[in-house]
Amino acid sequence: MRTIGLLGGMSWESSIEYERIINTEVRRRLGGVHSADLIVRSYDFAVIEAMQEAGDWDGAGELLAADARRLQEAGADLILLCTNTMHLLAPAIEAAIDVPFLHLADATAEAVKEAGITTVALLGTRFTMEMDFYRGRLEAHGLRVLIPGEADRRVVNDVIYDELVQGRVLAESRRRYLAIIDRLIAAGAHGVIAGCTEIELLVTADDVAIPYFPTTRLHALAAVDAALRPV
Ligand code: GLU
Repeated sequence: MRTIGLLGGMSWESSIEYERIINTEVRRRLGGVHSADLIVRSYDFAVIEAMQEAGDWDGAGELLAADARRLQEAGADLILLCTNTMHLLAPAIEAAIDVPFLHLADATAEAVKEAGITTVALLGTRFTMEMDFYRGRLEAHGLRVLIPGEADRRVVNDVIYDELVQGRVLAESRRRYLAIIDRLIAAGAHGVIAGCTEIELLVTADDVAIPYFPTTRLHALAAVDAALRPV
């Protein structure tokens, strides 16, 4: 079994789900007392969020790239970045390591394509919804990506930073998200990407009438596939 390196803590509310899903899946596949072989670098999210707010992407890229390198030097055979938003810095991370970097948008796009869907809604932080690094990567897979209107984007973003990364999961926010998803379905979406690793703590597939793509789960399962793939 290969060793998986996780760049996490963005936020830890979702990173612990990565660990739970990866370990559960390894036990399911290998049985007995098996569990995953993991190395975790978990940040103080306040430091990361301050860099995002300041637009200090160069500084954040240097930090993540250096730590990805440390994970590799510590023995990681593959590396995951446990946040959609910080995939803005995927190129800096990939340039710093020689082991595979499993890009979250690729794992997600593969699942959407496997479901036979081409028009998909994307929910996430304002960075993920509005900048090109994530949507563009999905579009490069041949997907058509819909995002909420401006007022709805503000709601989606604020619920992430003001509630979910702080461990607050509120029924009222779930109701607001589901109303936004309904508007995206009316606009033509045939699937919904929970493109922020905390969103699946709030909204699950059972809440949504169309196929739902939870990025934490999809990314974690892709990591197990890679870790257990025969040489
Ligand atoms: N975990 C989130 C994501 O998947 C948001 C927190 C962050 O800004 O990294 O985008």
